[in-house]
Amino acid sequence: MADTVHVAVRMRPLNQRELDLGAALCLKMDGPTTELIAADGSKKTFNFDFSFDSLDSAHPIHDQAFIFEKLGKQFILEKAWQGYNCTLFAYGQTGSGKSFSMTGGKSPDSRGLIPRTCEEMFNRIASQAGPTEQFEVSCQFLEIYNERLGPPTVPFPVRPLLSPILLQLRDLFNIKSQTEPRIREDPKKGVFVEPAIRERVSSYAEVEAKMEAGTKARVVAATKMNATSSRSHSVFTIYFKRIMVTAGSAKVKESCISLVDLAGSERQAKTGAEGQRLAEACAINTSLSALGNVISALAENSVPGAKPKFVPYRDSVLTRLLQNGLGGNSQTVMIAALSPAMDNYEETMSTLKYADRAK
Ligand code: ADP
Repeated sequence: MADTVHVAVRMRPLNQRELDLGAALCLKMDGPTTELIAADGSKKTFNFDFSFDSLDSAHPIHDQAFIFEKLGKQFILEKAWQGYNCTLFAYGQTGSGKSFSMTGGKSPDSRGLIPRTCEEMFNRIASQAGPTEQFEVSCQFLEIYNERLGPPTVPFPVRPLLSPILLQLRDLFNIKSQTEPRIREDPKKGVFVEPAIRERVSSYAEVEAKMEAGTKARVVAATKMNATSSRSHSVFTIYFKRIMVTAGSAKVKESCISLVDLAGSERQAKTGAEGQRLAEACAINTSLSALGNVISALAENSVPGAKPKFVPYRDSVLTRLLQNGLGGNSQTVMIAALSPAMDNYEETMSTLKYADRAK
């Protein structure tokens, strides 16, 4: 398995509606093994780096704190400190627990990976900052959404997408801006977006406030377009700079942490979308496939002695935007969020297959 791509599966508990209906379970986890059980009893077995069962008396430790220890601390914070870029995302159908894992609830126990990781980052900064070590943190919040109008002219060096529905970027820190952000590439800086605001932050409370404001702006923008924000992707990026001063010279380690909130992966036949809405949903799903293809190529390339495979970053706005944090020495953490109810068997199977390709 690739040591730069880490795949976790996480099963949510049955919800009240499913419990009331006496829903059967289609998932069973045992150590690293996840078993998908069809209504006729046939089974398919998968293995992942981490399997997090739903929290019940049999698995009382698979809570938010445990998942932060296993994923957020080990792969995101430790690596960012060493100067590596990191990307964290949750994949799965709507209602499978993506937001619960990434953001979580308001109570201290239910807080998800993003608040815990950011808070721990500022705790560490507070304990380490001093005359020989300084830190600078800034953040950016972008959304990838569907543009309904025809494709605009896209200047060099940005290649237009081939899809007739163009996915575009919005700066959630500046939604009133008339200038649309574009993805650009620089041999030194790598991929970057311009214009897009980067806000300096010096505490977790500031990050939280920025995220909240950006999330509100996202809902406002979606409502204006008569769309829903769950059919778009958003990327919150933390730019982390660590400056170490020794004997008059300074050593700088820079990294960026991309925290990605993906649109639900459900296939559209089930949601009853039609016409323009269906075409838009397909464009969003195309970028999920593109992300799957990039991660699968990276996983294949990380096998010692493997013939290098082309990594198709340019196939979607999403993968271009995340390019700096995918591949090379970057750490990628994927959480595949799963519903255990038999009703969702097909979607759960498709999420498990997606996660399996990342190995
Ligand atoms: P998504 O973001 O994939 O649409 P949510 O994160 O909103 O899904 O989860 C749907 C519901 O299930 C929410 O009420 C959430 O609190 C609950 N839930 C999801 N995962 C878990 C979990 N691991 N433990 C307890 N409740 C969960």
